[in-house]
Amino acid sequence: MPLTPSRTVEELRELQQLTGDENGAQRVAWTETWERARGWLRETLAGLPLDEEIDEAGNQWFTVRGASERALLIGGHLDSVPNGGWLDGCLNVMAGAEVLRRIAEDGEPALTVRLVNWADEEGARFGRSLFGSSAAAGSMADQEELRQKRDADGVALPEALAEHGVDLDRALDARRQLEGAAAYLELHIEQGPVLEGLDLPLGVVLGTFGVERHLITWTGQAAHAGSTPMDRRRDALAGAAKLAIEIRDVAARTGDGAVCTSGGVVCKPGIVTSVVETAEQLLDQRHLDGAKLAHMLGEAKEASERFAREESIDVSWSKIWSIEPIPFDGELIELADQSIVEVAGRSHRLPSGPLHDAAEVARAGVPTVMLFVQSLRGLSHTKLEDTKAEHLELSVRALDGLASKAIAWISATSPATPSR
Ligand SMILES: [Zn+2]
Repeated sequence: MPLTPSRTVEELRELQQLTGDENGAQRVAWTETWERARGWLRETLAGLPLDEEIDEAGNQWFTVRGASERALLIGGHLDSVPNGGWLDGCLNVMAGAEVLRRIAEDGEPALTVRLVNWADEEGARFGRSLFGSSAAAGSMADQEELRQKRDADGVALPEALAEHGVDLDRALDARRQLEGAAAYLELHIEQGPVLEGLDLPLGVVLGTFGVERHLITWTGQAAHAGSTPMDRRRDALAGAAKLAIEIRDVAARTGDGAVCTSGGVVCKPGIVTSVVETAEQLLDQRHLDGAKLAHMLGEAKEASERFAREESIDVSWSKIWSIEPIPFDGELIELADQSIVEVAGRSHRLPSGPLHDAAEVARAGVPTVMLFVQSLRGLSHTKLEDTKAEHLELSVRALDGLASKAIAWISATSPATPSR
């Protein structure tokens, strides 16, 4: 049977019926509903010449053996946030399932082709995203912390995992799954407004943003709001306010998709009759280029010192979290561009703000690329999340075209030659 993209839309609706309610998708990882979704996927693919396996981290793999052991991987995640949308994560899996069907029915492929349903991408229950993919990538390094994590009902993470056959101590054994992986493809809804703004159905993702997150503490002097003349104040909030405005210019000067956000300022004493003594400010900066990200951080720090001098206050910085940018594979980006042009006439290249399982796989050294399909109103992680059916069908076609091109590309490269 040829590729049938309309079937993907039907199956997504079926999954929504089976695992959602009036508030949206309820496939939170390590729950009964999530397990039901995995069982449904197993049944949906029954009858095809493939092997199913659940690995040590709870990832669900479907493998069509090819002439070569080298494997093309296509991935997504069936888990959702509570009250989630009908497409986030599961579009990737169901589009991959359709491509896998098409390949399996065409006879033995040149390469082994594998579909992976990653476990717990969202981290909705325990606050740890990308669980299964980071285990397979070998980058999971927080097992001690994970042991201590509990959900809102007080259930410990290791116990919840054990109910689904996963032993946290052995999760990293899932690394063997990426041995022989020659390329990884992931289709995802954009979850942002860029493609809709450009009136384009599809785009190629260049990589995931590097992120710098810092807490900036401004220290001045509390003083009476009535008796302290304006020129004698040491107002901590004035520093935070100047920086909140300055970072807009920092992002604009840097360009190429740069974003900076001051997500909150907490003031003390925080009463109407006092000048602010301390202001704790949150800053998040993101860029696809590591050097530009470092430059943006430097500019923000320099500006903060200037504002501290101007306001006669002190400023100090402490890092909350950071991650370097993860660029996708240049050759696969070209192939993805071509397959989008073939199905939609025009393509667009854009970075990804959110992290995805693809970032973990790319970090592990597997050539990786993602396709984004337009999200209506840029909404995600809500039942309002939506994409036009015609765009969903185009996205299945684009993924299928990309899979064929990737198989041809990998087959043409000898296994001994590094692929980048
Ligand atoms: Zn997702």
